[in-house]
Amino acid sequence: MTVGGWFRLAEHFVSINGEGQRAGELALFLRFAGCDLNCSWCDTKWANRPDVLCTAASVSDLCGIADEAWSAGVRNVTLTGGEPLLQEGIRELITTLLGMGLRVEIETNGAEDLAPFTGEPRPVFTMDYKLPSSGMERFMKAENIRLLGENDTLKMVCASRKDLERAYTVITEHRPKCRVYLSPVFGMIEPADMVEFMKEKGLGDVRLQLQLHKFIWDPQERGV
Ligand code: SF4
Repeated sequence: MTVGGWFRLAEHFVSINGEGQRAGELALFLRFAGCDLNCSWCDTKWANRPDVLCTAASVSDLCGIADEAWSAGVRNVTLTGGEPLLQEGIRELITTLLGMGLRVEIETNGAEDLAPFTGEPRPVFTMDYKLPSSGMERFMKAENIRLLGENDTLKMVCASRKDLERAYTVITEHRPKCRVYLSPVFGMIEPADMVEFMKEKGLGDVRLQLQLHKFIWDPQERGV
Protein backbone atom coordinates (compact mmCIF):
# COMPACT_ATOMS: atom_id res chain seq x y z
CA MET A 1 0.00 0.00 0.00
CA THR A 2 3.04 2.24 -0.22
CA VAL A 3 3.27 3.76 -3.70
CA GLY A 4 6.79 4.04 -5.15
CA GLY A 5 8.39 4.13 -1.69
CA TRP A 6 5.94 6.78 -0.46
CA PHE A 7 3.61 6.29 2.46
CA ARG A 8 -0.06 7.05 1.84
CA LEU A 9 -0.82 9.44 4.69
CA ALA A 10 -4.57 9.98 5.10
CA GLU A 11 -4.26 12.49 7.95
CA HIS A 12 -2.07 13.51 10.85
CA PHE A 13 -2.93 15.39 13.98
CA VAL A 14 -2.11 15.71 17.67
CA SER A 15 -4.81 14.65 20.09
CA ILE A 16 -5.14 12.42 23.10
CA ASN A 17 -4.80 8.66 22.85
CA GLY A 18 -8.41 7.49 23.01
CA GLU A 19 -7.53 3.94 24.02
CA GLY A 20 -4.67 1.64 25.01
CA GLN A 21 -2.29 1.90 27.95
CA ARG A 22 -1.52 5.57 27.21
CA ALA A 23 -5.18 6.61 26.99
CA GLY A 24 -5.55 10.28 27.88
CA GLU A 25 -1.95 11.22 26.96
CA LEU A 26 -1.13 13.48 24.05
CA ALA A 27 -0.05 11.65 20.92
CA LEU A 28 0.79 12.40 17.32
CA PHE A 29 -1.44 10.28 15.09
CA LEU A 30 -0.22 9.23 11.65
CA ARG A 31 -3.15 7.63 9.86
CA PHE A 32 -2.30 5.63 6.76
CA ALA A 33 -4.75 4.86 3.98
CA GLY A 34 -5.87 1.33 3.16
CA CYS A 35 -6.90 -1.77 5.05
CA ASP A 36 -7.19 -5.44 4.11
CA LEU A 37 -10.26 -5.95 6.31
CA ASN A 38 -13.74 -4.48 6.12
CA CYS A 39 -15.25 -4.53 9.61
CA SER A 40 -19.00 -3.99 9.75
CA TRP A 41 -18.66 -1.24 12.37
CA CYS A 42 -15.45 0.40 11.05
CA ASP A 43 -15.42 4.11 11.86
CA THR A 44 -12.58 4.96 9.44
CA LYS A 45 -13.97 3.44 6.24
CA TRP A 46 -13.26 6.72 4.49
CA ALA A 47 -9.50 6.10 4.91
CA ASN A 48 -9.79 2.65 3.33
CA ARG A 49 -11.39 3.68 0.05
CA PRO A 50 -9.00 3.29 -2.92
CA ASP A 51 -9.75 6.85 -4.05
CA VAL A 52 -9.23 8.51 -0.65
CA LEU A 53 -7.36 11.80 -0.88
CA CYS A 54 -4.03 11.25 0.79
CA THR A 55 -0.56 12.74 0.88
CA ALA A 56 2.47 10.87 -0.47
CA ALA A 57 5.00 11.13 2.36
CA SER A 58 8.55 9.84 2.76
CA VAL A 59 10.13 8.63 6.01
CA SER A 60 11.86 11.99 6.18
CA ASP A 61 8.54 13.89 5.75
CA LEU A 62 6.95 11.85 8.52
CA CYS A 63 9.93 12.37 10.82
CA GLY A 64 9.64 16.11 10.16
CA ILE A 65 6.03 15.97 11.38
CA ALA A 66 7.15 13.94 14.42
CA ASP A 67 9.91 16.43 15.14
CA GLU A 68 7.42 19.30 15.23
CA ALA A 69 5.23 17.31 17.62
CA TRP A 70 8.26 16.56 19.81
CA SER A 71 9.05 20.29 19.99
CA ALA A 72 5.47 20.83 21.17
CA GLY A 73 5.97 18.36 24.04
CA VAL A 74 4.40 15.27 22.47
CA ARG A 75 6.21 12.02 23.31
CA ASN A 76 3.84 9.39 21.86
CA VAL A 77 3.27 8.62 18.21
CA THR A 78 0.48 6.29 17.15
CA LEU A 79 0.65 4.67 13.73
CA THR A 80 -2.89 3.84 12.71
CA GLY A 81 -5.14 3.41 9.72
CA GLY A 82 -6.48 1.65 7.94
CA GLU A 83 -3.79 -0.92 8.66
CA PRO A 84 -0.37 0.70 9.16
CA LEU A 85 1.63 -2.53 8.80
CA LEU A 86 0.60 -2.74 5.14
CA GLN A 87 2.77 0.29 4.34
CA GLU A 88 5.94 -1.07 2.74
CA GLY A 89 8.52 1.05 4.53
CA ILE A 90 6.89 0.78 7.93
CA ARG A 91 9.81 -1.05 9.61
CA GLU A 92 12.20 1.76 8.66
CA LEU A 93 9.73 4.36 9.89
CA ILE A 94 9.25 2.58 13.23
CA THR A 95 13.02 2.29 13.77
CA THR A 96 13.59 5.95 12.91
CA LEU A 97 10.82 7.23 15.17
CA LEU A 98 12.04 5.07 18.07
CA GLY A 99 15.54 6.42 17.45
CA MET A 100 14.14 9.95 17.95
CA GLY A 101 13.11 8.95 21.48
CA LEU A 102 9.40 8.72 20.72
CA ARG A 103 7.21 5.99 22.15
CA VAL A 104 5.77 4.31 19.06
CA GLU A 105 2.46 2.52 19.25
CA ILE A 106 1.07 0.49 16.35
CA GLU A 107 -2.68 0.00 16.12
CA THR A 108 -2.98 -3.20 14.10
CA ASN A 109 -5.98 -5.18 13.00
CA GLY A 110 -5.06 -8.73 14.05
CA ALA A 111 -4.76 -10.01 10.48
CA GLU A 112 -1.06 -9.13 10.04
CA ASP A 113 1.84 -11.29 11.23
CA LEU A 114 3.54 -9.41 14.08
CA ALA A 115 6.64 -11.64 14.22
CA PRO A 116 8.70 -9.47 11.80
CA PHE A 117 8.13 -6.45 14.08
CA THR A 118 9.04 -7.95 17.44
CA GLY A 119 12.84 -7.61 17.16
CA GLU A 120 14.67 -4.67 18.72
CA PRO A 121 13.98 -1.80 18.62
CA ARG A 122 10.45 -2.84 19.38
CA PRO A 123 7.32 -0.69 19.17
CA VAL A 124 4.30 -1.18 21.39
CA PHE A 125 1.30 -2.93 19.86
CA THR A 126 -2.37 -2.48 20.39
CA MET A 127 -3.69 -5.47 18.50
CA ASP A 128 -7.34 -5.95 17.75
CA TYR A 129 -8.86 -9.39 17.80
CA LYS A 130 -11.97 -9.04 15.65
CA LEU A 131 -15.03 -10.70 17.12
CA PRO A 132 -18.00 -12.23 15.22
CA SER A 133 -20.02 -9.01 14.74
CA SER A 134 -17.15 -7.47 12.76
CA GLY A 135 -17.57 -10.18 10.10
CA MET A 136 -13.76 -10.46 10.00
CA GLU A 137 -12.87 -13.03 12.65
CA ARG A 138 -11.82 -15.62 10.07
CA PHE A 139 -8.83 -13.43 9.18
CA MET A 140 -7.46 -13.24 12.73
CA LYS A 141 -3.95 -14.57 13.33
CA ALA A 142 -4.48 -15.83 16.86
CA GLU A 143 -0.81 -16.93 17.00
CA ASN A 144 0.04 -13.21 17.33
CA ILE A 145 -1.38 -13.22 20.85
CA ARG A 146 1.62 -15.10 22.25
CA LEU A 147 3.91 -12.38 20.83
CA LEU A 148 2.25 -9.66 22.89
CA GLY A 149 4.15 -8.69 26.05
CA GLU A 150 3.34 -6.68 29.14
CA ASN A 151 3.65 -3.33 27.34
CA ASP A 152 1.23 -4.38 24.63
CA THR A 153 -2.53 -4.46 24.53
CA LEU A 154 -5.01 -6.94 23.13
CA LYS A 155 -8.21 -5.12 22.32
CA MET A 156 -11.52 -6.76 21.57
CA VAL A 157 -14.30 -4.54 20.32
CA CYS A 158 -17.71 -5.89 21.32
CA ALA A 159 -21.08 -5.13 19.77
CA SER A 160 -23.16 -7.93 21.30
CA ARG A 161 -23.41 -10.64 23.96
CA LYS A 162 -22.17 -13.13 21.33
CA ASP A 163 -19.00 -11.03 20.94
CA LEU A 164 -18.49 -11.01 24.72
CA GLU A 165 -18.83 -14.80 24.86
CA ARG A 166 -16.30 -15.19 22.07
CA ALA A 167 -13.90 -12.74 23.76
CA TYR A 168 -14.11 -14.87 26.90
CA THR A 169 -13.22 -18.00 24.92
CA VAL A 170 -10.24 -16.26 23.24
CA ILE A 171 -8.95 -15.08 26.62
CA THR A 172 -9.28 -18.47 28.29
CA GLU A 173 -7.77 -20.34 25.33
CA HIS A 174 -4.78 -18.07 24.71
CA ARG A 175 -4.10 -16.64 28.21
CA PRO A 176 -2.52 -13.38 26.93
CA LYS A 177 0.45 -11.96 28.89
CA CYS A 178 -0.44 -8.42 27.80
CA ARG A 179 -3.25 -6.21 29.06
CA VAL A 180 -6.64 -7.10 27.67
CA TYR A 181 -9.24 -4.44 27.00
CA LEU A 182 -12.86 -4.91 26.07
CA SER A 183 -14.25 -1.92 24.24
CA PRO A 184 -17.88 -1.33 23.20
CA VAL A 185 -18.93 -0.39 19.68
CA PHE A 186 -20.26 3.07 20.36
CA GLY A 187 -24.07 2.99 20.49
CA MET A 188 -24.41 -0.78 19.94
CA ILE A 189 -23.91 -2.26 23.41
CA GLU A 190 -24.31 -0.79 26.87
CA PRO A 191 -21.00 -0.53 28.75
CA ALA A 192 -22.96 -1.41 31.92
CA ASP A 193 -23.91 -4.77 30.35
CA MET A 194 -20.24 -5.40 29.62
CA VAL A 195 -19.38 -4.78 33.25
CA GLU A 196 -22.09 -7.28 34.26
CA PHE A 197 -20.55 -9.84 31.89
CA MET A 198 -17.09 -9.25 33.38
CA LYS A 199 -18.51 -9.81 36.87
CA GLU A 200 -20.39 -12.93 35.76
CA LYS A 201 -17.24 -14.48 34.26
CA GLY A 202 -14.83 -13.27 36.94
CA LEU A 203 -12.71 -11.35 34.42
CA GLY A 204 -10.58 -9.66 37.06
CA ASP A 205 -7.57 -9.05 34.80
CA VAL A 206 -9.54 -7.54 31.94
CA ARG A 207 -10.38 -3.86 31.62
CA LEU A 208 -13.35 -2.14 30.10
CA GLN A 209 -12.22 0.75 27.96
CA LEU A 210 -14.42 3.42 26.46
CA GLN A 211 -13.11 5.31 23.44
CA LEU A 212 -12.47 8.65 25.11
CA HIS A 213 -12.65 10.76 21.97
CA LYS A 214 -16.20 9.54 21.22
CA PHE A 215 -17.30 11.11 24.50
CA ILE A 216 -15.30 14.32 24.17
CA TRP A 217 -16.05 15.10 20.51
CA ASP A 218 -18.77 14.28 18.01
CA PRO A 219 -18.37 10.51 17.29
CA GLN A 220 -18.12 11.27 13.53
CA GLU A 221 -15.47 13.98 13.94
CA ARG A 222 -12.16 13.40 12.14
CA GLY A 223 -8.72 14.55 13.23
CA VAL A 224 -9.39 14.34 16.97
S1 SF4 B 1 -9.38 -3.28 10.65
FE1 SF4 B 1 -9.75 -1.24 11.46
S2 SF4 B 1 -9.52 0.13 9.70
FE2 SF4 B 1 -9.69 -1.96 8.89
S3 SF4 B 1 -11.88 -2.18 8.43
FE3 SF4 B 1 -11.54 -2.98 10.51
S4 SF4 B 1 -11.95 -1.25 11.89
FE4 SF4 B 1 -11.67 -0.42 9.81
